[in-house]
Amino acid sequence: MLEVRRLSVNYGRHQALRDVDLQVRPGELVVMLGANGAGKSSLLRALGGMQRPADGSSVQLDGHDLIALQPHRIVEQGLALVPEGRGIFPTLTVRENLALGAFTARARKGESARYEEVITLFPKLRQRLGQAAATMSGGEQQMVAIGRALMSAPRLLLLDEPSLGLSPLMCSELFRAIALIRDQGVGVLLVEQNAYRSLEIADRGYLLENGRIVGSGSAAQLRNDSAVQRAYLGQH
Ligand code: ATP
Repeated sequence: MLEVRRLSVNYGRHQALRDVDLQVRPGELVVMLGANGAGKSSLLRALGGMQRPADGSSVQLDGHDLIALQPHRIVEQGLALVPEGRGIFPTLTVRENLALGAFTARARKGESARYEEVITLFPKLRQRLGQAAATMSGGEQQMVAIGRALMSAPRLLLLDEPSLGLSPLMCSELFRAIALIRDQGVGVLLVEQNAYRSLEIADRGYLLENGRIVGSGSAAQLRNDSAVQRAYLGQH
């Protein structure tokens, strides 16, 4: 279980995140909704060890403190981040990208079974294993990025706007796969601007505004909330 308390992130004098509290339980899909600049990427980057949180912040995964750990140590603890822009290696093949995901000691055990699971989850990748990642469509590259993160055997997967720039069809395929990952027992924290689709698959959600959590609830509660509908679901 991910337990975040009083997480703050500062960029010089600018406070991008302020006293964020949140939980993600095993096998739970939680969406973080927020407009441009709300602080969503800062949150995920801080959890993944790519951005130093302010003093007094606390991040624990299954009771282990993650604050101040190097990013690779955080992956070793079972938290995998798929960053905005995916972060895959464009000149390497799909197979090589996936193999690189299994660099930690926790991932090497069971690597080949996990590899099979990943290409079962994303059947499109099976025909493309020898293809350079850069030559694939945006949606396929997102699958490679998520597949690579899954190769690290995470307990918790963090996804930064995976649907950005994808066609509606590709988006549906991707969100179906994300729901399946949750069904297999992995906790998922999904940062999205696509509130409509993410609330369709999520269990719970939080609303982030100007670096603060301003609301939370079950996915059904959020879908029916008039403020959420106005701000995120395009209904007035
Ligand atoms: P988007 O969806 O547009 O990426 P976001 O919700 O992910 O937005 P962040 O990228 O976390 O938001 O940015 C939160 C705030 O922090 C913004 O005001 C942004 O300009 C600022 N910010 C982000 N990264 C930095 C940085 N490296 N240096 C200074 N300010 C930053």
